[in-house]
Amino acid sequence: MNNSLSLLKKIVQEAASLASPSKQMVYIVSAVRAAMQVSVCSLFIADETNVLTLTATDGLDPAAVGKVKLTYGEGLVGTIARNSHPLNIEDASKHPGYRYFPETQEEQYQAFLGVPLVHLRRLVGVLVVQESQRRKFTDDEEAFLLTIAAQLAATLSLDQSHSWVDMTAQDNQSMQRVLGVKGAIGIASGVIHLLSEDSLEQVADQECKNIDAEIDKFHTALQQCQYEIDQGSLALKDSLSGDIATIFTAYKMLLESKELIDDVERGIRQGNWAQGALRAAISQYADLFGNMEDPYLRSRSEDVWNIGNKLHSKLHGRKTAVSQDQNLILAGDLISITDIARYKREQLVGILCQTGSSLSHTAVLANALGLPAVMGTGKIKNLQQGIPAILDGYQGQVILYPSQEVLSEYQKLASREKNLFTELEGLKEQPAITPDGHRVHLYANTGLMADISPGLKRGAEGIGLYRSEIPFMIHENFPTEEEQRLIYRHVLNTYEGKPVTLRTLDIGGDKALPYFHFSEENSYLGWRGIRFTLDNRPIFMTQIRAMLRASEGLDNLHILLPMVSRVDELDAFNLLLEDACTQLKLEGYQVKRPPVGIMVEVPAAVNLLPFFASRINFISIGSNDLTQYLLALDRNNSRVSHLFDNLHPAVLQEIYRIVQLCRTIHLPVSLCGEMAADPLAVILLLGMKIEALSMSAYNLSKVKWLIRTMPVKVAEETLQKALTMESEVQIRELTKGVLIKHKLGKLVH
Ligand code: PEP
Ligand code: MG
Repeated sequence: MNNSLSLLKKIVQEAASLASPSKQMVYIVSAVRAAMQVSVCSLFIADETNVLTLTATDGLDPAAVGKVKLTYGEGLVGTIARNSHPLNIEDASKHPGYRYFPETQEEQYQAFLGVPLVHLRRLVGVLVVQESQRRKFTDDEEAFLLTIAAQLAATLSLDQSHSWVDMTAQDNQSMQRVLGVKGAIGIASGVIHLLSEDSLEQVADQECKNIDAEIDKFHTALQQCQYEIDQGSLALKDSLSGDIATIFTAYKMLLESKELIDDVERGIRQGNWAQGALRAAISQYADLFGNMEDPYLRSRSEDVWNIGNKLHSKLHGRKTAVSQDQNLILAGDLISITDIARYKREQLVGILCQTGSSLSHTAVLANALGLPAVMGTGKIKNLQQGIPAILDGYQGQVILYPSQEVLSEYQKLASREKNLFTELEGLKEQPAITPDGHRVHLYANTGLMADISPGLKRGAEGIGLYRSEIPFMIHENFPTEEEQRLIYRHVLNTYEGKPVTLRTLDIGGDKALPYFHFSEENSYLGWRGIRFTLDNRPIFMTQIRAMLRASEGLDNLHILLPMVSRVDELDAFNLLLEDACTQLKLEGYQVKRPPVGIMVEVPAAVNLLPFFASRINFISIGSNDLTQYLLALDRNNSRVSHLFDNLHPAVLQEIYRIVQLCRTIHLPVSLCGEMAADPLAVILLLGMKIEALSMSAYNLSKVKWLIRTMPVKVAEETLQKALTMESEVQIRELTKGVLIKHKLGKLVH
């Protein structure tokens, strides 16, 4: 086959761009038939009951579509499905597995080649080509069909939760599950409210008849947008922290940018209408950002399009009606902060952003406002105004047209969560102590200004992890010592009298700074955490000085070091800390050396703990990274995310070893990864008699309830059983059973 690579790319891209699964399937069979120059190409799609249905064909009788059905193992197609292996047969009718379906009129075809479509271990369907003459398909043809099937399987399996045949029949109304990335946790059900039905990107050029009037129109739109942004920042003033409020300022600066205004005016003077001139100018600016390597700066092109779309909606003057009594899931290609601000907080239940990442400002704001959010789903087929949807921020997925059962399951889940919260509010002042007397200290994880006080309101005994990189990421340049001091002071002050653990800058991996760009082949194994800060001494020194000064007179600061894997890193840090204390004392500040701890998250740190012991005061287990490095699993890679589990036996055994080791060398231990909020994991950590756990404020009361209900003796027995198990599935089953037995079943979804 000539040009097979470019043909392959073209077919895959074209299929992915089509608006509905049925259109995709019709396209695939005709494109593959043409590319391979064969008489027939057909697609059989598998459903969850193990039935394969002829769903599209180019060459067989179209009347057979939807009617020919085979079970796994039945006929040639069923054999391919069962064996997950291609069949290339000279004369199909002579094969012992052949099954004849008169409705297809396929008796005229002899040569048969079929390949399975498998995505993430799941059979999606079988793709078949046929020829009238007796022949074996060539190796090249087989390789082409196999390759295209592997790629199309991913495109077609975007929806894995229901039958494609139903989709073909009703296309627009069937339940559809779309995967994205988690933006903010929580569950929302409501109707889709599309931000803008036609985006600026789609606007075509048009001749402009009255240039002056068009320029006036553009300036009116500018003023309307500026006004809305001012109103938006006012409306959100109380729920926003200073760091997010600065994003409004950035939007305003863009709108006031002389270059942008000049470019649009120039476009209009050259004869283009305002929308066309705006599209040209905005796409030029957005491309500038979009082509940058740095993921943070790249995601700033979202902000530019946000502003462009906002101006566009003012220029065309259309308004989308919002019904007052519906819960809205705000959905769109891009959703800006001012868009969110336009809606009443009570009416808005979630955010669905088809582009963007968990780094984008939209996700940052959703988290701070407690709105579930799903990001980066890609263009969603059939996304329309007013359609019912469920947004699952825990799984990073959206369900459109949920069936009544699914809807009521999710509604039950959401109301169960809400009721549980209310029930557990009473525990706020109670200590986390087991019925047989083991005390666990519960702390909050934080990083945004907006989520500092919720921890306190929910009974946190202090802050166990303050991710200092978050304020650095939201800033436009390295914050100065004084800027940092003010931020840290606010945190330390809010928790006066309680310990606050500020972690030093942990950038690298997926956490990039907009103003300090570097790209690495394997960023999780590169310049991260303390490796970065030790190499950039002025940045480190500024941060340490800011932390020490912030704690002056409060003395509740603890310093935590991320990604430590060597003794000399601690020695270098201790020298820096000593130096910072000396400098500040000379400058007249009353600073004290705070307790210093390390995150145990790099496996190498575990064996070095006895050497670290004399140099530090405590440790905190970073179970997110520890799991990632022990299991060699990228924590952000959706292809392998189903394998990422803190209860993998190797992780559990390692955490147990750390806790025991720390006990022998007298180092206090806490754990601050996501595991601390997983009730099944908490039983096992309790069984290890862990002293402290740190988690997002949202989970504090649930974990406290568990601890106050579960005798440590039961937890110890459960741990001992879990340590003999060979898979996380068994461990989860065991711990779930224990929770249910102790009437804590409400804690598991
Ligand atoms: C961890 O690795 O477990 C952790 C708490 O830190 P982060 O998630 O910020 O890497
Ligand atoms: Mg970490």
